[in-house]
Amino acid sequence: MTARRTKIVATLGPASSSPEIIEKLILAGMNVARLNFSHGEASDHRERTRLVRDLSAKHQKYVAIMGDLQGPKIRISRFKNSPVTLVEGQLFTLSNTYPPDAGDNTIVGIDHAGLVADCHPGDELLLDDGRIVLKVEKVDDHAVHTTVIAGGPISNNKGINRRGGGISAPSLTDKDKADIQTIAELDLDYVAVSFPRYGRDIIEARKLVRAAGSSAWIVAKIERAEAVADDKALDALIKASDGVMVARGDLGVEVGDARLVGIQKRIILHARTHNKFVITATQMMESMISSPIPTRAEVSDVANAVLDYTDAVMLSAESAAGRYPVEAVAAMDRVCLGAEQEPATTRSQHRVGETFSQRDETIALSAMYAANHYPGIKAIIALTESGHTPLIMSRIRSSVPIYCYTRHEHTQRRAAMFRGVYTVPFNITEHNILDVNQDAIKLLKDQGLLNNGDSVILTKGEHDNQAGGTNNMRILKVS
Ligand code: PGA
Ligand code: MN
Repeated sequence: MTARRTKIVATLGPASSSPEIIEKLILAGMNVARLNFSHGEASDHRERTRLVRDLSAKHQKYVAIMGDLQGPKIRISRFKNSPVTLVEGQLFTLSNTYPPDAGDNTIVGIDHAGLVADCHPGDELLLDDGRIVLKVEKVDDHAVHTTVIAGGPISNNKGINRRGGGISAPSLTDKDKADIQTIAELDLDYVAVSFPRYGRDIIEARKLVRAAGSSAWIVAKIERAEAVADDKALDALIKASDGVMVARGDLGVEVGDARLVGIQKRIILHARTHNKFVITATQMMESMISSPIPTRAEVSDVANAVLDYTDAVMLSAESAAGRYPVEAVAAMDRVCLGAEQEPATTRSQHRVGETFSQRDETIALSAMYAANHYPGIKAIIALTESGHTPLIMSRIRSSVPIYCYTRHEHTQRRAAMFRGVYTVPFNITEHNILDVNQDAIKLLKDQGLLNNGDSVILTKGEHDNQAGGTNNMRILKVS
């Protein structure tokens, strides 16, 4: 049986917080649990973290946990009687002085004063991920007056985007800063930053995360039109982060659904070229919120992301609030495995004709070139401290499994995100230097993953067990 290479991120929420469901999600193949800090209290996230840690340990699985910050999403306030219904052609006002709990079907408050200054007649504002469309007619000191272009029901605290982007609160809110403390306290493995505009937003987030005492890796959510306006803006965000998320919910609203798929492919390609991982997110299995089987379009969406070589696919409401969270993970598992059968997913044209900048990068990419061209290689064993070497390796398309051998718990969990990478706990300092290679091979042999006569590629740092120290690659025969 070949193991699935593409990883599954599942958001935990009210539908997936019991020990029973979390255990089933782990067994169905959840590799990364996402805690969405836009919803719920710190105590909810604390309890979910405890359950994921305990239950994954019980089954000897490595499951990473990602805290996803709410970010500076601008929202409407609340209605006297929620929801209200907006009708096409009517007038509707957004006001930053209107009482926050008193909205009706003609006017509602907004929680961010800057919105009024950012809006101009002719702009299109989108509420609730684009379900409601408003056209700005007039802007005065405290309110934006609009005509409803696409109506429907609208409830409290829904998000506001502008078509084309450009309405922006600063990147990290006070709530985000408090949530970073919680994330540090829970020792989460990843932090996702919402609505970053520039590389410096990510650098700032990283500073706060480190200051809070967390070593979590930072994920930039690509969800603003500005972030994908040109390759320079996109690459700056990618380079400042450890990995990115194609956050199609907000991004699709800002750039329009027609551009979204092409941009998704560009983000995946650019992330991989810069040695970063990439998660494809939002509405991948949307109909499974209320149906036990996905549509053909959803199957196609997940499979295409796999064929484009995303590291991970993500479930949001499907696993957090839907009726079929476990079935949704199982469906993703099945579709990823099926798409991975396609030969094109194991052939690489990655960075042909480019130079490399670092020693560990050179070893990692050379190892993959060797693995893909030398018949008989059944495994790649990367002895690693930070997980950086297997991350770079897994940028290359391959059918050969990459085993991340590490003594660090953080790295053991973190590697759950990377495509084709599997964790093997291994404390190099407990092995005799002359026996390390054979001891490493024996672990896979004992699990039936290698047989006598197979070849393996093993990489490590020759002298030091230091991050970035990988400088050595060997081809070894199993005997
Ligand atoms: P969200 O981010 O679910 O926090 O909005 C993902 C997206 O926008 O797609
Ligand atoms: Mn979003």
